[in-house]
Amino acid sequence: MPELPEVETVKRGLELHVKNTVITHVIVRQAVLRWPIPKNLKTILTNSKIVDIQRRAKYLLLIINSSEIKQQKIKKINGVLIIHLGMSGKLQIVTPDTALLKHDHVDIVLNNNKILRYNDPRRFGAILWSPIPQSCTTPVIHYLDNHERFKHLGPEPLTTSFNTNYIIQKARNRATPVKSFIMDNNIVVGVGNIYATESLFYAKINPTRAVSTIIPEEWQILINEIKKILKKAIKSGGTTLKDFTNSDGKPGYFKQELAAYGRSGEQCIHCNHILQTIRQQGRTTVFCSECQK
Ligand SMILES: [Zn+2]
Repeated sequence: MPELPEVETVKRGLELHVKNTVITHVIVRQAVLRWPIPKNLKTILTNSKIVDIQRRAKYLLLIINSSEIKQQKIKKINGVLIIHLGMSGKLQIVTPDTALLKHDHVDIVLNNNKILRYNDPRRFGAILWSPIPQSCTTPVIHYLDNHERFKHLGPEPLTTSFNTNYIIQKARNRATPVKSFIMDNNIVVGVGNIYATESLFYAKINPTRAVSTIIPEEWQILINEIKKILKKAIKSGGTTLKDFTNSDGKPGYFKQELAAYGRSGEQCIHCNHILQTIRQQGRTTVFCSECQK
């Protein structure tokens, strides 16, 4: 499943190809992903300009504005094409002569002779449309705060909104184990299993601890570790961006060395104790019972 750093990598990779292009055609081969693709997508998008690409949590946001393009008599369209890759979704930039593969569900044809192609074997992904009123003056990302897919989401982990004061407020009087807590999108978005496992290891916090028992100094360290590991993962994704248009369409996955995740039964890099595995909410957690208290 693509994690936040991979989605950010995809965003950065796409930016180069899609920003300031005009959509000339839209082909929908599969009408239903996790939710139905809007029936009027072709009408909405054709002859519209992609003015920007942004990301919120693991959603990619193509900001669409047709006002510069369409003639006076056609209704001006402002909005956001919201794309989620789900479990197995991929977005690729291909050329018109690229052979169609199984599960290539949507093509967004651009005026630069490229196609933004969405492939998703398991169809847990999503392509949604949110209109933005012409009168809207707030940045799109804030406008979407009230959207049903976004309103419950916690802050972005790499922004200053994700800080010690915020997390202490949220953790007050709660017995939730810290690992489940930091992986909860309502608290903070984008901390997947790898990043939660690794950041707790480096912060030396036992993943099963109740969040109400964690002291501010520990939160500070943990938040720093989360930010550090996500930045590192995004950076490692960025290094393989040159391969972005390869036929496999895979973004630069997180290849940095992992200290805990996937190392069950191996020695702790700090104390040589054998790393243990437990199950938390159906997910594997690897940790060092010597170092993580
Ligand atoms: Zn250890």
